[in-house]
Amino acid sequence: MSIGVLQRYRELLPLNEETPLFSMGEGDTPLVRSRSIGPELGCPDLFFKLEGCNPTGSFKDRGMVVAIAKAMEENSIGVMCASTGNTSASAAAYSAYCGLAAWVLIPKGEVALGKLAQAMAYGARILLVDGNFDAALALVREFTQHNPITLVNSVNPHRIEGQKTAAFEISDLLDDAPDYLFIPVGNAGNITAYWRGFVEYHQLGHNDTLPRMMGFQAEGAAPIVRGEPVAFPQTIASAIRIGNPASWKQAERARDQSGGVIDAVTDDEILEAYRMLASREGIFGEPASAACVAGLLKMRRNGLDLAGKRVVCIITGSGLKDPDMAVSSAQANTLEVKPNLEAIEAAIMESLPSGNRATGH
Ligand SMILES: *Cc1c(COP(=O)(O)O)cnc(C)c1O
Repeated sequence: MSIGVLQRYRELLPLNEETPLFSMGEGDTPLVRSRSIGPELGCPDLFFKLEGCNPTGSFKDRGMVVAIAKAMEENSIGVMCASTGNTSASAAAYSAYCGLAAWVLIPKGEVALGKLAQAMAYGARILLVDGNFDAALALVREFTQHNPITLVNSVNPHRIEGQKTAAFEISDLLDDAPDYLFIPVGNAGNITAYWRGFVEYHQLGHNDTLPRMMGFQAEGAAPIVRGEPVAFPQTIASAIRIGNPASWKQAERARDQSGGVIDAVTDDEILEAYRMLASREGIFGEPASAACVAGLLKMRRNGLDLAGKRVVCIITGSGLKDPDMAVSSAQANTLEVKPNLEAIEAAIMESLPSGNRATGH
């Protein structure tokens, strides 16, 4: 049986005797050493934390399990969230598991297909809002203030508490905090959660050091970088298409206290990192996840010295969430062939690395 986040980190979470302890297998995700990008950047100790390996395919499950457990403890009848997709998938799954109703507000036309499919399959009540994420979140905040339904966006403090456990896992595996933590920033709950996790582990004496927090927004949705909300955020990375982050101030604090940065990367840089991660590391993250790898590549280009540094990139969600993006961005690899051996052989000879082409029989 999976131990899960609630039991494993019981002492470090806001639980009591009334809180139900259950798990759908969240947490304990892989930390994989880079074999290609790290060495190329002069950073042999580059690791990827695969949060897409959580039960619904994103890190949101870590916080959701705590939020749902607390909602159960409080005898809530149901939960509600606004979502760019992954929060709704997670809320819907954990609600299904626990027998709660889930209402999810989704910006119409802006959610990746896999995420919408999940919310539908898990049986959430889906309200498609003719507006963006920020508008949907404002509605949910207002509604849940006056109704006995639990808000499970990351403004619910239990979400951040659960998400901080990823910092504990990284520290346990590396025997200390890394030097740099690269992470995508949308609503800014996750960067807040990681910083809290590292600080708590440091205070408890488990870690000697603290990482520099390196957060990355998409250029068209970079309110923290610009210093003002973005009314109409635009980026291909739908999970970070957010113009007015709920945890804005906390993210700035994480950046400043850690000596880190919050910077922006373009959609082209995100797509380049997205393809590189999948084709050269075998790691298929969603575009938002690739934003932190794009950030790493950018910082390296700008002269950041990574020699002897331990660096972790948080691959926040699975690439399967956004199949349209995968197909449209890799179509050049696809070739139609006739169903005969000659056609297959010709196609394979054509695509071999040039040094191997002189073979054959
Ligand atoms: C939610 C999400 C993010 C952004 O996290 P925030 O806590 O909103 O900053 C990034 N990547 C993925 C895959 C997500 O689901």
